[in-house]
Amino acid sequence: MNVYDSARMADVLAPHGFAPVDAPDDADMVILNTCHIREKAAEKVYSELGRIRQIRERRAADGRKTVIAVAGCVAQAEGEEMRARAPFVDIVLGPQTYHRLPEMVARAARAGGVVATDFPVEAKFDELPEASAPQGPSAFLTVQEGCDKFCTFCVVPYTRGAEFSRPAAQIVAEAKKLVAQGSAEITLLGQNVNAYRGPAPDGGTWGLARLIRALAEIRGLARIRYTTSHPRDMDEALIEAHADVPALMPFLHLPVQSGSDRILTAMNRGHGAADYRALVESLRRARPDLALSSDFIVGFPGETEADFAATLALVRDVGYAQAYSFKYSPRPGTPASLAEDQVPDAVKTERLHRLQAELWDQQRRFNESKVGSVMPVLLDKPGRRPGQLLGRSPWLQAVHLDAPAHDMGRIVEARIGAATVSSLAGRALVREDAAA
Ligand code: SAM
Ligand code: SF4
Repeated sequence: MNVYDSARMADVLAPHGFAPVDAPDDADMVILNTCHIREKAAEKVYSELGRIRQIRERRAADGRKTVIAVAGCVAQAEGEEMRARAPFVDIVLGPQTYHRLPEMVARAARAGGVVATDFPVEAKFDELPEASAPQGPSAFLTVQEGCDKFCTFCVVPYTRGAEFSRPAAQIVAEAKKLVAQGSAEITLLGQNVNAYRGPAPDGGTWGLARLIRALAEIRGLARIRYTTSHPRDMDEALIEAHADVPALMPFLHLPVQSGSDRILTAMNRGHGAADYRALVESLRRARPDLALSSDFIVGFPGETEADFAATLALVRDVGYAQAYSFKYSPRPGTPASLAEDQVPDAVKTERLHRLQAELWDQQRRFNESKVGSVMPVLLDKPGRRPGQLLGRSPWLQAVHLDAPAHDMGRIVEARIGAATVSSLAGRALVREDAAA
């Protein structure tokens, strides 16, 4: 989402004469777009700011000015505190005020420091200009923001604010523009993307499944993905869409966090481990080749060895193609950070290693299961060496292909020859091979 937000900040500044540069030394304005989900985020921002301050001083010696802004959730959480600790920062802006950036730049030039961390009444997406810069073969599109779920470990409801869904017509128009600019794949984004309930063109309300069906009608949009979903919002309509919308890719990021009911309750996730297993079963009935990924937190306060064993058991039962796993990190202002039964760091580290060993093994086995098969690959990046391009499989695996440069941006049929834990490798089939 920060990648998408950064692109939108560039869009909003473009009419005011700003264009992206490759190096901070060339920048008249530097924006740090930050994430606050785990600890040390704020410390990293302050140390990066120290580096940018030196750049500003170097540029000042040549008579060039540099505006410094900090955006995103660390800015939201720190607010005035950031200007107190780093007074050379000109602008501190939260995720809901990006549309006001040009006005802030003008204000900072006139009167000095600006802090904008309110949740304004006007909707950011109504005020932002249309997305203008092409995103390439694979694009992001934010459809929903914020969260009302208040998991006890998480800062998102405090930094991103309440759940908000963009109007469906606005999303469809943005998707059409992305496709016209050459995107063949769109990933719909939201902190709780499947809680999407947006005003529809017919005056009603659309859920995510209905929105996906509307997007699937756009000619040239070959692939649709969405992330991140909450198990509680995975409704029948969305499961059905996986069965019968061919553009909806057979890969789903469905975080479970823990396999222990006791911990899931303490996390306020609103479902148990059996509910999650049943949900996975329904999804696989709808789309038998569906691959899953998840997020896991180890060492949540009070997690015992038995709780952790339940997580390992769930991982073995479900079988993941990929996953992210983290040590629990106490976040200021969240209920779990106040719990007295915090798990020692050494225990968290040891559990994380055991969990990751299992997850990497599953990921390697999933990748190896594709060796010898032919699959469509969307080529979206230059490869490591000449004659190679990098792309994505339907299951979001990175695929290194021997393919001519003119295949960039296309979906080609490819035969997979090798797999590692992190990627596949193969060659693009020439048309006659593909037909055979
Ligand atoms: N809304 C999504 C969901 O509920 O599944 C997750 C969004 S969150 C931005 C991404 C992931 O960060 C979470 O799934 C969780 O695993 C991890 N995370 C969030 N807060 C954390 C914390 N305090 N400590 C460790 N990991 C955390
Ligand atoms: Fe955070 Fe996701 Fe829970 Fe919302 S649902 S509080 S974003 S982990």
